[in-house]
Amino acid sequence: MGARTRNSTPKRPSRKTKKATNATPEAAAAIADRLAERWPGVVVELDHQNAYQLLVATILAAQSTDKLINTITPAVFAKYPDATALSQAIPADLEQLVFKSGFYRQKSGSLIKAATAIVERHAGEVPSTIEELCELPGVARKTANVVLGNALGKNEGIVVDTHVMRVAGRLGLTREADPTKIENDLMALIPRERWTDFGNQMIHHGRYLCRAKDPQCDACPLAPLCPSAGLGIMLAKKPKAKAAAKPKARKPKPKPKAKKSKPRARA
Ligand code: SF4
Repeated sequence: MGARTRNSTPKRPSRKTKKATNATPEAAAAIADRLAERWPGVVVELDHQNAYQLLVATILAAQSTDKLINTITPAVFAKYPDATALSQAIPADLEQLVFKSGFYRQKSGSLIKAATAIVERHAGEVPSTIEELCELPGVARKTANVVLGNALGKNEGIVVDTHVMRVAGRLGLTREADPTKIENDLMALIPRERWTDFGNQMIHHGRYLCRAKDPQCDACPLAPLCPSAGLGIMLAKKPKAKAAAKPKARKPKPKPKAKKSKPRARA
């Protein structure tokens, strides 16, 4: 799950003000229906028991994989069972536990700061509004949406990670490249009550079927509705770029032989 800008304004966007896509709510609903049929009941793949654990796992999952994070978090949750415990963590101890997640110093710092803010501003409980969540250090809209939708049962937005960005573009649901703008496009097309499920299903679709380098269009139930159908074959046929030829190593120039100085005649 990649980093996002800290824009926390959850405006219901107007279709008039945004860059137009050809997608209509009806077409988007048909896509959402097929997604729901293909990925019924999918939930976030980060293991968690409550909002605190999902928040910690989601912060750790940035630039990493859910699978790897699930191997790290049991030890983190055992040592720091709540925000109060985490706010008192010694950075070096936490860093050791989350080392494998990458960017471990930065993530440890964010976790301790976020936990401290939760203790100081919210009496130790993870806040339940997107505005309050986005004010926590290390938390942007994507993380807030994951926690709100999957742990607190609130449809405040649509999670837009790297998979959702790619799949939404391929499906013609957006022409934007910025995650916040993509989220606005999707929120304008998808009914609010579907936002969390739709986000989870898009992530699954991107992770397992509409993959970046080898989308499985032949096996994709969205193909009849997808303007990019056939992309998988095109990408498979695309010749791989030749590796840049290594510049030939120059032969070292032979050192000029030192001139033998004539022995001076003795006086
Ligand atoms: S048809 Fe291909 S490009 Fe379109 S959503 Fe399916 S896998 Fe992705």
